[in-house]
Amino acid sequence: MISPVLPSYSRANLSFVKGEGSWLVEADGRRFLDFASGIAVMSLGHGHPTVVGALKDQADALWHTSNLYEVPQQKALAERLVEHTFADTVFFCNSGTEAAELAIKMARKYRTETGTPERMKILTFEGSFHGRSMGAISAAGSEKLTKGFGPLLEGFQSLPFGDHDALREAAAQEDVGAIMIEPIQGEGGIRPVPDQCLKGLRDLCDEHGLLLIFDEIQCGVGRTGKLFAHEWAGITPDIMLVAKGIGGGFPIGALLATEEAAQGMTAGTHGSTYGGNPLGCAVGTAVMDTITEDGFLEAVNAKAGFLRQKLEGLVASHPTIFESVRGQGLILGLKCRVAPTDVVAEGYNHAVLTVPAADDVVRVLPALTISEEEISQGIDRLDATATALEERAA
Ligand SMILES: *Cc1c(COP(=O)(O)O)cnc(C)c1O
Repeated sequence: MISPVLPSYSRANLSFVKGEGSWLVEADGRRFLDFASGIAVMSLGHGHPTVVGALKDQADALWHTSNLYEVPQQKALAERLVEHTFADTVFFCNSGTEAAELAIKMARKYRTETGTPERMKILTFEGSFHGRSMGAISAAGSEKLTKGFGPLLEGFQSLPFGDHDALREAAAQEDVGAIMIEPIQGEGGIRPVPDQCLKGLRDLCDEHGLLLIFDEIQCGVGRTGKLFAHEWAGITPDIMLVAKGIGGGFPIGALLATEEAAQGMTAGTHGSTYGGNPLGCAVGTAVMDTITEDGFLEAVNAKAGFLRQKLEGLVASHPTIFESVRGQGLILGLKCRVAPTDVVAEGYNHAVLTVPAADDVVRVLPALTISEEEISQGIDRLDATATALEERAA
């Protein structure tokens, strides 16, 4: 008989009952070091007092009114996002997928609005992930996501990752209107787009009048050591998708845009019942205020350097298990010589949580608030994990 919960996930046999910073307590009492952060969601760790306080205060005051009325909490969060980014305006939704869906609609509406309706095509990249809606799976295009779900949404062309000639050729086509890309592919295996390539993308978009859409749902909100990953390249997109870390565990997503890109999205063109509800926005504001505090991102960069060095050491000690480290800041990947799912599963026996990704990568995504002491403990557990895998192979 089918499980009462739709069996669309393959889950580990673990049930966590309590979270404290970088630690998760299992029902049997074991304490796990959390290098997963709920897939880059728990940006400030579990139970961060500022975030919990913001949610509790808002829960006592008001939960929901609807977008029929002004929602001051939306305004507060939008003002912070606008202040700290390229964006002029923000739409709030409940997930990354919804932000990706709106990006597709906004890019198309921009074309209608600016009298270029023949330029509806959006260029995307192999290995990308933008969510699970029909629009998002059509955009990413991989068979793993789309198989059995056709007919897909039209208007996307997926390009090989890192093939500059293919990109240049595709961008010059007359039916292309936008490029959508993750500055660091998350699900695709922590594959960063080098800074000079992000700059090249911006130039290409300017040359052909294309909208540049960055999906920073996984790599944004402080994770790379800048507030948003593209800041390292010194360029800005026209549209950006944000979710995961901005909510610190509360479901909220956002689309940020320039006034130019957003011009078609007038009253009545898009909406969401829950999107931008007071609870999510109060939490998002608390997360933003914490991450933009003086010294916060400097501390992330210091920890990131420490973690990276430790991971490089781990790779050197276990050359039959690991091949290399990649990524930036606290969005790091261990390229494996064994199945990454085996590394993650063996990690459970050593009370450390990591996340598998494509391209034989295990993701290491600690809370931005993790301490060096905790990083060391996590590395010791990964070391024991690798040793156990070596002994099994021997
Ligand atoms: C997780 C993720 C999404 C989808 O976000 P949901 O909140 O799961 O809908 C989209 N893009 C990227 C890069 C992601 O990591």
